[in-house]
Amino acid sequence: MSRLRRFFLPLLAILLTGATAQARNFRTVVIDPGHGGHDKGGQWGLVYEKHLALDIATRVEAEVKKRGFRTVMTRRSDYFISLPERCRIASRYSDAIFVSIHTNYTWRQDASGLETYFFSPQSQALASYVHSGMTSKVRTVNRGVKTARFYVIRNTTCPAILCECGFVSNPSERERMKQAWFRQALAEGIADGIMRFRRAG
Ligand SMILES: [Zn+2]
Repeated sequence: MSRLRRFFLPLLAILLTGATAQARNFRTVVIDPGHGGHDKGGQWGLVYEKHLALDIATRVEAEVKKRGFRTVMTRRSDYFISLPERCRIASRYSDAIFVSIHTNYTWRQDASGLETYFFSPQSQALASYVHSGMTSKVRTVNRGVKTARFYVIRNTTCPAILCECGFVSNPSERERMKQAWFRQALAEGIADGIMRFRRAG
């Protein structure tokens, strides 16, 4: 090992550790309600994912604010916003995490439950905390924390996750999602998870 390398490698390690610590020192939570406008997302009758996602996200915003964070919403009402634009919004903040809110859909009507996705290794802990926050608030099928290549979690530089808050294609889950208490419980669970991730940092 050259002298230069002997000096450089520990320095690099310190810099990388510093970067991780900084990611945990986030003050801003970018909340991303999935879909919007002509993009309805999953749909069953008049129940649209885009509406459920916006309602849950708005509740997450209120809960996260209560816990002392600054919040940014990628959309506040029912309009279309592209996936790159969602990532651009997140990239404006150097002290942020990114939380995308969706609901699930499949042709198999018996599928139900919650799942949380991440892409980069730096986002795994955030996904785990938020997922257990949600599953501790509502009694449902725990589909687990998983990796996926969804655009918004793959193209954000900060810790980024995507929460699937239940299946609109499942009759009983759809009925629960139509009720405010269920959406509120999920929002509180997500906010608790964010807080626990912050404290663990
Ligand atoms: Zn979606």
